[in-house]
Amino acid sequence: MNPVVYLDNNATTRVAPEVAEVMLPYLTEFYGNPSSMHSFGGQVGLQLKKARADVASVLGCDPLELIFTSCGSESDNTAILSALAAQPEKKHLVTTRVEHPAILSLAKHLEEKGYEVTYLGVDDKGNLDLDELAGAVRKDTAIVSVMYANNETGVIFPIPEIAALCKAKGVLFHTDAVQAVGKIDIDLSKLPVDMLSLSGHKLHAPKGVGVLYVRKGTPFRPFLIGGHQERGRRAGTENTAGIIALAAAMTLAKAHMAEENTRVKALRDRLEAGILAAVPHSQINGDTAHRLPNTTSIAFKFVEGEAILLMLDQYGISASSGSACTSGSLEPSHVLRAMGVPFTYAHGSIRFSLSRYTTDADIDLVLDKLPGIIETLRRMSPFSEEEAAKPACTC
Ligand SMILES: *Cc1c(COP(=O)(O)O)cnc(C)c1O
Repeated sequence: MNPVVYLDNNATTRVAPEVAEVMLPYLTEFYGNPSSMHSFGGQVGLQLKKARADVASVLGCDPLELIFTSCGSESDNTAILSALAAQPEKKHLVTTRVEHPAILSLAKHLEEKGYEVTYLGVDDKGNLDLDELAGAVRKDTAIVSVMYANNETGVIFPIPEIAALCKAKGVLFHTDAVQAVGKIDIDLSKLPVDMLSLSGHKLHAPKGVGVLYVRKGTPFRPFLIGGHQERGRRAGTENTAGIIALAAAMTLAKAHMAEENTRVKALRDRLEAGILAAVPHSQINGDTAHRLPNTTSIAFKFVEGEAILLMLDQYGISASSGSACTSGSLEPSHVLRAMGVPFTYAHGSIRFSLSRYTTDADIDLVLDKLPGIIETLRRMSPFSEEEAAKPACTC
């Protein structure tokens, strides 16, 4: 079944038709190994080199500073584990409570291995306290890792300031820019980050390809060990079709950047304003002044996010809830919890994430259906002010 209205672009995106077209010959015709001595493989190697140059040109870096990976999670893991392996005397890392699981689960894992992790909190708008960040960096801090933009709320952290702060303190800095690349302009020639992660499938390239940018001079230890691919920094035969697709998708994203920040943003704002006007007891999660243009996280008091999603799904509308339902116990998202969003709101939070393929008709359909859905659910809601006041729930 094809979703009629796809508003879950922060989870994954449609491969742009132009991108699919560019990559197809590398699955069917040009399937040689780019490392081969023969010209059949060599011609693919040349295209790989061109793709690397294209990605570097979009990001404002040197092609040799790019390592192609399999996904954003691999890039994130590689960055952190490399910093620890390259500086074995340093056993401390700094990150935030609102990172993607690709960072947070790894940090928890590292704690079990004996590393110490400082998790920076956020305020009710989802913003960090930079003085707290500066104070958290120690002599034995191996790396600071802070995401560029939050996947749930779209809140953008002040990465240029944080990068400069880390540079001044002489500590390595990594940013998970998976949600930011393609949506906001990032120029690595001006941004003093040491490492940056991005992922193809969040910007209309296929799943299974990512990038880790490693600034020249940054100490680096490979995560995947094997062949000499990526100059010995990441073993494994290159995902040539995926990399060529990623380069095309990034070039397209750059060309569409202005649209993202005008038309797509206007659609998001219309969706938001329409919902807030039509649904009482609803509010936006996160700082609306520092946000991705395509994302909105909206909280509906006294309803369950999963119930809203199921009813939206009946109209062919795909969105996402801010909560992860684990084994029957509904746990609100770690991001909303970190922001201190009240229980009665956090449980009923929905994320709509748009893309350049989102239309006015898509937004009209949501605005037509959603208020009725919330009203219906509230009539059958198990929540009430008195229930919410009881200290029964630990989250
Ligand atoms: C999706 C996402 C990731 C993980 O990327 P994959 O390519 O799916 O592994 C990491 N960080 C953020 C912020 C994301 O949104």
